[in-house]
Amino acid sequence: MDQTMMAVRLFEHGGPEVLKYIEAPVPEVGPDDILTRVHATAVNSWDLRYRAGNLPQPLPGRPLWPLPFQLGRDAAGEIVATGENVTSWRPGDRAVQLPHPPCRNCALCVRGLENLCVDTAYPGHQVFGGYAEYVVRRQDAILPIPDGVDFETAAATMWTYTTPLNCARQAPVGPGDTVVITGASGGMAIACAQLAKLSGATVIGTTTKPDRDEALRKLGYDHILHPHHRRRCAGLRRVRERMKRTTIRRLLKWDASCPCVQLLRPVMTSGGVSAVFVFRVHHFGQHLPPAGRAAGGGGRT
Ligand SMILES: [Zn+2]
Repeated sequence: MDQTMMAVRLFEHGGPEVLKYIEAPVPEVGPDDILTRVHATAVNSWDLRYRAGNLPQPLPGRPLWPLPFQLGRDAAGEIVATGENVTSWRPGDRAVQLPHPPCRNCALCVRGLENLCVDTAYPGHQVFGGYAEYVVRRQDAILPIPDGVDFETAAATMWTYTTPLNCARQAPVGPGDTVVITGASGGMAIACAQLAKLSGATVIGTTTKPDRDEALRKLGYDHILHPHHRRRCAGLRRVRERMKRTTIRRLLKWDASCPCVQLLRPVMTSGGVSAVFVFRVHHFGQHLPPAGRAAGGGGRT
């Protein structure tokens, strides 16, 4: 077993030049830990923000953003060593790390709301991420990679698709629903659109970048609106004309500042569901339409 490995680490904030390719010790394996040789790791917009020092105030109870640091929210690879208490994993197994490993002890975890765990430590946020040859994780903080799924797909899926999947299940989205997704070209937004489409819904996306319309349609959106455009209301009217017998019952929202919620408020049915995903806690719930109720709170950083 190697004693050292190569890793990409950050010792100060700044441009790409602050990412240093260095030799570092292979992480120690505790009794309940798994050591994985990393085959693929995701590159997330969060990594760019962290590198640049464009960081929000941590959530209450979470530590300040550490330096030096090793980025990489998602990592997939092959297990090479296990701790003495580990019985369900063996060297050679393929695994991907959980981007949001729950503590399983706090009140929210005990209630089954592990996605809202207040005592988690995200890889790439509070603990070293996947920008290295090896990462160590608790044995219950990884998942097996199914046969037929390659390492790159596994690493690119965990953060981007799990929150939208939770959202789509809790809403829940199904045939006959119309789903509206603001900020349509974001990674999570595209994942949300594809999951809603797979569930049989009609999917409307909003974007401020009209040159992306065609690409977004190819990715699964049925209609694209430009809410900041002068003729935004005309765009919504056109969509509503096409769906005369349809009312919007599912609103999946990604950008807390987008005026789209107000725009769509009149077409939410009584008892409709809105799932609001925000990136600043103080915005949470501010824009819920009266007819809606929060159906998910994942995606908070
Ligand atoms: Zn917890």
